Amino acid sequence: MDQNTNFYDIAIIGAGPAGYTAAIYAARAGRSVAVFEKASPGGQMGITSTIENYPGFASVEGFELAMKMESQAKVLGAVCKTEAVTAVTDEGKYKRITTKKGEYLAKSLVIATGAKPRLLDVPGEALYTGRGVSYCATCDGMFFRGRAVAVNGGGDTAFEDALYLSNMCSSVTLIHRRDQFRAAAYLVKRARGKENIHFILNSVVKEIKGKESRVSSLVLTDRTTGEETVLECSGLFVAAGRVPETELFRGIVELDQAGYIIAGEDTRTSSPGIFAAGDVRTKTLRQIVTACADGAVAAQAAEEWLESEGK
Ligand SMILES: Cc1cc2nc3c(=O)[nH]c(=O)nc-3n(C[C@H](O)[C@H](O)[C@H](O)COP(=O)(O)OP(=O)(O)OC[C@H]3O[C@@H](n4cnc5c(N)ncnc54)[C@H](O)[C@@H]3O)c2cc1C
Repeated sequence: MDQNTNFYDIAIIGAGPAGYTAAIYAARAGRSVAVFEKASPGGQMGITSTIENYPGFASVEGFELAMKMESQAKVLGAVCKTEAVTAVTDEGKYKRITTKKGEYLAKSLVIATGAKPRLLDVPGEALYTGRGVSYCATCDGMFFRGRAVAVNGGGDTAFEDALYLSNMCSSVTLIHRRDQFRAAAYLVKRARGKENIHFILNSVVKEIKGKESRVSSLVLTDRTTGEETVLECSGLFVAAGRVPETELFRGIVELDQAGYIIAGEDTRTSSPGIFAAGDVRTKTLRQIVTACADGAVAAQAAEEWLESEGK
């Protein structure tokens, strides 16, 4: 590491599988590396209960895998900082990274900020988040043991959430805006086979209502008839998709229409010395294994870029 502890060869924003893998590769290449994380280690992987498609592990808890990756990165010399990055500026020779705790300079930057849940944007959502509204069934499901809950969405995550919750909640109502699901057929079949999973289709959540500062019911609108109904429940799990965490980088690197950083398999962005790895970049398959692959490529690309610049 440089004499100045706020100065690194490679700064990595985001400690998900992409960020940790980039840190492991960059540290092994002998570079000084800092990884900035605003929340808990592992990103989306860290909040996944059981992972069954990461090679080498028939079944592994997401948090356990996250801790293993973090430990590996640290042992190799990466500095892991629990600090939310609030601003980034590209000053050419250096990239300036600002957090609430301080300022850091890096010769190159790997953006591995992943994705966050898409909000429903309805009355009551902000008020009851953490008080019955959740975006992570595997994190919060246990708080709803024995209660009636709802899940909003029609993709794989919504179905996985509904199935997971059905093992601990008295009932799970899956609310979906269409009458067809995007979820994999096997998940739909499994959910249909569960007695305590119910479906309300062609409907959207119009408002989230509460009693004594906790969710008590949802107002639903049928999109075909316009009819409004009230669903009594203690919790709403929102599974309405994810959006990339790229607001900080608007104007620094090129984004596509959906907000993903435009970068190919080589992870190079429109800005020299800045690389994008994992879910945050334009790609077809967003999974742990592809995020790890990106992290490795990004570290290698950063190393090559530093070498070519004589840095
Ligand atoms: C419920 C669920 C289940 C899943 N199950 C599987 C599965 O079984 N198998 C599989 O392969 N994939 C699964 N995935 C997908 C997989 O988790 C993601 O593809 C993978 O985690 C993406 O890794 P990433 O490193 O690109 O981003 P993320 O995992 O999203 O990590 C990004 C990190 O960046 C941090 N960050 C963002 N902005 C800032 C900032 N300004 N400052 C500091 N830190 C910041 C975030 O807090 C986060 O920790 C699942 C995802 C979800 C949501």
